[in-house]
Amino acid sequence: MKRAYNFSAGPSMLPMPVLQQAAAEMVDYQNSGMSVMEMSHRSPVYEKIITEAEALLREVMEIPDNYKVLFLQGGASTQFAAVPLNLLSNSGKADYILSGQFSTKAYQEAQKYGDVKAVASSKEANFSFVPVVQKEDFRSDADYVHICFNNTIYGTKFPYIPDTGDIPLVADMSSCILSEPFDVSRFGVIYAGAQKNMAPAGLTVVIIREDLLGKARKETPTMLDYKVQADNQSMYNTPPCYCIYIAKLVYEWILGLGGLKAMKAQNEKKANLLYDYLDSQTYYVAPVSKESRSMMNVTFVTGDAELDKKFASEASERGLKNLKGHRSVGGMRASIYNAMPYEGVEALVAFMKEFAEKNPKA
Ligand SMILES: *Cc1c(COP(=O)(O)O)cnc(C)c1O
Repeated sequence: MKRAYNFSAGPSMLPMPVLQQAAAEMVDYQNSGMSVMEMSHRSPVYEKIITEAEALLREVMEIPDNYKVLFLQGGASTQFAAVPLNLLSNSGKADYILSGQFSTKAYQEAQKYGDVKAVASSKEANFSFVPVVQKEDFRSDADYVHICFNNTIYGTKFPYIPDTGDIPLVADMSSCILSEPFDVSRFGVIYAGAQKNMAPAGLTVVIIREDLLGKARKETPTMLDYKVQADNQSMYNTPPCYCIYIAKLVYEWILGLGGLKAMKAQNEKKANLLYDYLDSQTYYVAPVSKESRSMMNVTFVTGDAELDKKFASEASERGLKNLKGHRSVGGMRASIYNAMPYEGVEALVAFMKEFAEKNPKA
């Protein structure tokens, strides 16, 4: 068996020990006589899985007791609507920071429901940096402020947590959750699609401060009402059972490595290897500003669209998969989430050096 180094932005690599355990438990989960895929979500054996998954996530992220953890479906994109439906209920105002495509989509979706303002944007610079905002930039009566913490497509990350004072801060953390420790208490809501750093596609995790529950607008679909989901322990309907099981294995894997501090150290080491190489030469250019660099998604270009294309296809032949940049930015993007081994980044840098030597620019 030969495993590829898969640099996909998502769905992306899962840790080998997780895949192996899932394989070993595939047809008969712990003498239950069935796969986790086949069991009732109301059965005691499954209830144990989801209860443990939540407890483990709380432990890994040090989630304070006054926060609920929800295991939902619909992807981060459904949260673009769920957030305003649940929170836009006092002044009906919300402030958004536009740092990329996903935050822009979230902003556009929220506009259906109220007075939604873009307080800062880096669009003019093709989202190559994360705007810096101060408390004074927000409307004091806003119901919430929304950010996308790591911009998967552009390869940028917030180098700071915006100070919003008493206004709840809502963060899309789809592509950076579990990559390093975050102070959850700084946020009102954190949401993340699981397929970047946590589990297969199909699960969305929402972490919400309890005082923000029960404010949903009356037209909110029942399934999108955070309070309904919280009151029903994420089992108002059938939850994404198998994804939650894999997420639980991933949480155990992170704890086994030493938790998020250790995870961060590994991720820094990988990202530094790649960025240090990028900074040491001129063949490739990293287009985003240094202070906004993402630790999870690293973007670079040769400056020649034909060479970029050749790079991605030759890399793929070497088992370095999915390095083509997002269609809206071009170039290359290496997504180096938690499950990407250090050796994968080493192999990428070696290939980059070789490619640059063999393909001199005109
Ligand atoms: C991938 C991604 C999304 C979209 O997630 P879906 O689960 O496909 O809806 C939204 N935000 C960020 C930051 C992402 O990386």
